[in-house]
Amino acid sequence: MVVRVGLIGTGMIGQDHLRRLTRVLAGASVTAVSDVDVDLAERVAEGLPGATVHVTGEELIAHPQVDAVVVCSWGPTHEQYVLACIAAGKPVFCEKPLATTQEACRRIVEAEAAHGSRLVQVGYMRRYDPAYQSLQAAVDSGQIGTPLMMHCAHRNAGVPGFYDKESIITDTAVHEIDMVRWLFGSEIVAAQVFKPRRNRNGGDLQDPLLLLLETADGALIDIELSVNIRYGYDIRGEVVGENGTATLSSPVPVTVRADGRTSTPVPLDWRERFARAYDIELQEWLDSVAGGVAEGPSAWDGYAAAVVSDAAVAALRTGERVEVSLMDRPGLYS
Ligand code: NAP
Repeated sequence: MVVRVGLIGTGMIGQDHLRRLTRVLAGASVTAVSDVDVDLAERVAEGLPGATVHVTGEELIAHPQVDAVVVCSWGPTHEQYVLACIAAGKPVFCEKPLATTQEACRRIVEAEAAHGSRLVQVGYMRRYDPAYQSLQAAVDSGQIGTPLMMHCAHRNAGVPGFYDKESIITDTAVHEIDMVRWLFGSEIVAAQVFKPRRNRNGGDLQDPLLLLLETADGALIDIELSVNIRYGYDIRGEVVGENGTATLSSPVPVTVRADGRTSTPVPLDWRERFARAYDIELQEWLDSVAGGVAEGPSAWDGYAAAVVSDAAVAALRTGERVEVSLMDRPGLYS
């Protein structure tokens, strides 16, 4: 089956996913596009024979030539489009965040639960990264015993223009928040933030930060967030168990030894580091749409990440340990 996909949001990641859907993956035909910048949507549609351009996302969602929707627009628009997809009964892949407030995420969870079956997948792509999948397999094998702690680092060379003082949590750490819930198979119950002296590359930003998360079953996870560290994009993780440790390996396949030194390149940004994860993520989404059974990070996962992210923002503001309080999980997500 070829899934007829409508794309809302034709900015940076929208165009990257479009390239994937049309040139890399199997089983998709992009039949409709929409962007608040209609000229941009029309330019993007020029490369898509027969595709329609829509002035609103809602019009695209309702179009009979659209079986499923990919939402890549600005975060504050996600709620309205995801809710419209649920109302239309159409599967939707929504880039993270599911929505920009936990209340909006909750409305989506409630709408999907009332619909009665899963339609929503959220774009937390680390779950599809081969290195993280190997890490999870090592932990699940029992080789290192029960996992007790994890040390993580999320380092960016620099930050985009829209970045504000809380984006280090809401835009950056949120990927670790989802990954930790997935890897440990346990909800996060509290967050605390520690502030070392500032990196002068970061201007007014409190950068770096140390975020400490506690899981419901007692594991502790520390995350170094350094978002102006210049040298590249570096994602690290080491799980400490009762009998050993499991560590993410370098994703770079080649090491060069020359001129008296050994060197491996560092990825420049997240597009390079997680290219394979994005491919696998969207292929599995297409396959799940064709198979009629939704999988992958759910609306509940998007909601839980938003609540933990809010707790971490409160911890950043207050310096206190902040507890996480989730709504009761609807049976649809058990
Ligand atoms: P971007 O380049 O600014 O693209 C967003 C696009 O959506 C822009 O073309 C924007 O138009 C358009 N837009 C804004 N309001 C809209 C509306 N009401 N209806 C339709 N289109 C609308 O941003 P981006 O970097 O691609 O990010 C898009 C989303 O993907 C964000 O939620 C971001 O967090 C997420 N993302 C996820 C990852 C990941 O690792 N999973 C990576 C990057 C981005 P204007 O420019 O005219 O406002």
